[in-house]
Amino acid sequence: MNFTISELTHQVAQTARDFAHQHILPHVMEWDESQEFPIPVFKELGKLGMMGVLVPEKYGGSGLSYFEYKTVIEEIAKVCGSIGLSVAAHNSLCTGHILAFADEDQKKKYLPKLATAEWIGAWGLTEPNTGSDAGNMKCMAVKDGNDWIINGTKNWITHGRSGDVAVVICRTGEPRAKNNATSFIVEKGTIGFRGGKKENKLGMRASETTEMIFDNCRVSNANRLGEVGDGFKQAMKVLDGGRISIASLALGIAKGAYEAALKYSKERYQFDQPISNFQGISFKLADMATEIQAAELLIMQACDLKNRGEDVTKVSAMAKYYASEVAVKVANDAVQIFGGYGYTKDFPVEKYYRDAKLCTIGEGTSEIQKLVISREVLKN
Ligand SMILES: Cc1cc2nc3c(=O)[nH]c(=O)nc-3n(C[C@H](O)[C@H](O)[C@H](O)COP(=O)(O)OP(=O)(O)OC[C@H]3O[C@@H](n4cnc5c(N)ncnc54)[C@H](O)[C@@H]3O)c2cc1C
Repeated sequence: MNFTISELTHQVAQTARDFAHQHILPHVMEWDESQEFPIPVFKELGKLGMMGVLVPEKYGGSGLSYFEYKTVIEEIAKVCGSIGLSVAAHNSLCTGHILAFADEDQKKKYLPKLATAEWIGAWGLTEPNTGSDAGNMKCMAVKDGNDWIINGTKNWITHGRSGDVAVVICRTGEPRAKNNATSFIVEKGTIGFRGGKKENKLGMRASETTEMIFDNCRVSNANRLGEVGDGFKQAMKVLDGGRISIASLALGIAKGAYEAALKYSKERYQFDQPISNFQGISFKLADMATEIQAAELLIMQACDLKNRGEDVTKVSAMAKYYASEVAVKVANDAVQIFGGYGYTKDFPVEKYYRDAKLCTIGEGTSEIQKLVISREVLKN
C-alpha cells in the first residue's frame, strides 16, 4: 500500500476545508440548536463537486477516488458532523446505490441531478422494527400490471422529508425467504409517498432524519433498480462503501475534537503551568493521536482496496467499527481536557461528543460491524 497523498487529494482537502470554514463554521451552533437542515449549503457543495465525488464525469460528477471522498467527508466533519453525515448519506447511499445498480437510462436520469445537488437523495432500508435485522423488513412492494404498489414505513431516514428522490428497499417475497427484497427509485411528489415524523436527536441535529411513509404508492417497473429479489444484496454492497464514509465522518469528528483539546491544553493554566505539562493530560493526548492515526490507516486501506475494485466487506467494517469507537473516546477525552468549559456550548467539544455517538450506530452498529468482521475471519 502506498499512502502518499497526491496533489489532487491535497487540493480537494483545501477546497473542502476553506468551504467548511467560510460557509459552515459560522452557523454550526445556530443550525444545531434549531435543528435546521440547511439545504442551500448542499447546493453550494454541489457546485464544488462534493455531492457526486465518486460519480463519473460523464454523469455530471467529479469522477474522483475514495481517497478524495474520504478527505471531503473528513474535512467537513472536522467542522460539523451533521453536514458531514448528510454529504456522506447523499453520496454513498442514494447516489451510490444508483451508480452501482441502475441501468443506463436511470443513471442518465438521476445521477446528473444528484451529483450537482440539484436533487438531494435519501435511502431507505431501516424500519421501526427492523434496524440491525434489516432483512426482516415489512415494507412491501407488490406487482400490479406494469407497476409496483408500495406500502409501509421506513424510519431514521436521512433526508426522508427533504430528499427529492429516494432509493427504497422493499420486501417483494415471503418473510425471511432468500432474495425477498427489491430496490426502487421513488421521486418526491409521487402519490402515496410522504415524509413523516422528524426525529429530535442528541447529535447530528442539522442532518435531517425522518420517517418515509408509503401508502399505496404506485411506481412504474421502470423505477425498479436491478433484478427482482436483489434488493438486500445490493443494500449490503452499498453499505460496504457507505461504511468508509461513516469511518471518515468519525475520523473528522475525532480530529476536530483532538485539535481543539490539544490547543486548549497549551493555553489553559492550572498550578501556574499549562495543563499539557501534566502527564494525566499529555498521555490522554498521546492516546488520542495514536488512535486517530490507526483509524486513518484502516480507512486508507479500505479506500485503497475499494479504488482497486477489491472486496472491502471486512476492512470497511473494521474501519467503521474502529474509527467510530475512537471518535467517541477521543470526543469524551476532549471534553475532559476542557474541564467545565467542555461541558458548555461556548466551546466546540460538547458538540463533537454528541455527534460522535451516531458513528457507532448509523449504517450498522459497532456490534453489527463485529458480526460482519467475525463472519469474515471465520470464513477461512
Ligand atoms: C441519525 C441517523 C441517521 C440514519 N440514517 C439512515 C438512513 O439514511 N437510511 C437508513 O436506512 N437507516 C438510517 N439510520 C438507521 C440506522 O442504520 C439504524 O439505527 C441502525 O442500523 C441500528 O438499527 P436500530 O436503531 O433499529 O437498532 P437495533 O437493531 O434495534 O439494535 C439495538 C441494539 O441491539 C444490538 N444488536 C442488534 N442485533 C444484534 C446482534 N445480532 N448481535 C449483537 N447485538 C445486536 C445493536 O448493536 C444495538 O446496540 C439512521 C440512524 C440514525 C440514528
